[in-house]
Amino acid sequence: MNSIEVLIIGAGAAGSSAAFHLANSGVQVTIVDKKHGFLLKPCGGGMAASVQKWFPFSLEPIIEEVIQKVEFTWCLSDHVIAQLPGSSPFWITRREKLDELITQKAIEQGATLLQSFEVVKIFKIEGQWIITSKDGQQLKSKCVVIADGSSSPWAREFNLGPKNLHYASTTSIRVNGKGLLKEGTSRFEFGLVHHGFAWAFPLKDSVNIGVGTFIGNHAVESEKILNELMPSLGFDPKAGIRNDSRLRVWNGHSNLHGDGILVIGDAASLCDPFLAEGLRPALLSGCEAAKCIINWLKGNTTELSSYTKSMKKKWGDSMAWGRRISQVFYRFPKIGYQLGIKRPTAPQRIAQILSGEMGYGDIAQRVIKRLILKS
Ligand SMILES: Cc1cc2nc3c(=O)[nH]c(=O)nc-3n(C[C@H](O)[C@H](O)[C@H](O)COP(=O)(O)OP(=O)(O)OC[C@H]3O[C@@H](n4cnc5c(N)ncnc54)[C@H](O)[C@@H]3O)c2cc1C
Repeated sequence: MNSIEVLIIGAGAAGSSAAFHLANSGVQVTIVDKKHGFLLKPCGGGMAASVQKWFPFSLEPIIEEVIQKVEFTWCLSDHVIAQLPGSSPFWITRREKLDELITQKAIEQGATLLQSFEVVKIFKIEGQWIITSKDGQQLKSKCVVIADGSSSPWAREFNLGPKNLHYASTTSIRVNGKGLLKEGTSRFEFGLVHHGFAWAFPLKDSVNIGVGTFIGNHAVESEKILNELMPSLGFDPKAGIRNDSRLRVWNGHSNLHGDGILVIGDAASLCDPFLAEGLRPALLSGCEAAKCIINWLKGNTTELSSYTKSMKKKWGDSMAWGRRISQVFYRFPKIGYQLGIKRPTAPQRIAQILSGEMGYGDIAQRVIKRLILKS
């Protein structure tokens, strides 16, 4: 069995980003995924345009809508319509197309993709990783990147990521047609969802609708919420393809590397615990992991610790504040809506946070103080 330089488990946003950056630097990389083809995933597909800076090719082919306005409601009334600042554009993408585009670009740079390859065993022998699939195929590599998403068993097995995993509970739906959603406008509903929110993001000819709760590890009561939410968006309550899933969210600073092994994306619990933004950290972690692996393969460094350090600085420090905001906001959401969302500067701040221009730390102390004083 020949040894590969880097093996990536999972061809999602995180794995494809790592594969592209590694292959683009001439590293021999194989990416495996248990699925065949790029299928519908539970994801709103919303992401800040600022992610473009991490890729030398255009992401334009997968942008279906550019969001200019955001409409917020509390229990389907008390509307706030906010114009997004033109400086921080927000895109809605068809998620499966995003994964496919980046994987395709990785393949063009020399990466190999093996689909229908479900990893069931990983072990190390004589400095090499041996990865076994469900149907008994084996691959050998110098380095392994764990990018298998929120249900990853491997992060825990290799002591990577937070010790205590925290999950958001979600239901997502893709519905054909645009309903009552106006062009270039996305919707956020607070109030109907206990400890969370609902969203509607427009695509070219359909809408991604979702419901998520962020505190308490309990299942979201989606049926009841959707019976009210869907008609308000102009859809039959039973329309669309539904998908219930658990999303691993950020839960404390943690070690994201071991000896020749790294964890990225949802498997590393990087997703924002307040707004469920997971695409940007998935793409960023793929990019940062690749930089660190390239140095390690060249022998410039003997360990992969610079990846853990750079993710703490570029992502974790902001998420530590995001988690505190989430815990206060979702406990007192009515006050949060009045004092946070309805403030004239709120949409601009949210857009700046989602684009990376600002971190939660820049606003956290003021927001938490306001929420606690009024609760
Ligand atoms: C309902 C919902 C809505 C969301 N909306 C947004 C949004 O609008 N914007 C945003 O930024 N984030 C959103 N997120 C978060 C975002 O979807 C995730 O953070 C993102 O998918 C993380 O990408 P990933 O590559 O880490 O994981 P994934 O996309 O889950 O990729 C993991 C890959 O690994 C493969 N895999 C799994 N196990 C194995 C195995 N054993 N062997 C081989 N392959 C395996 C899977 O098939 C999959 O392709 C949402 C999440 C949910 C649940």
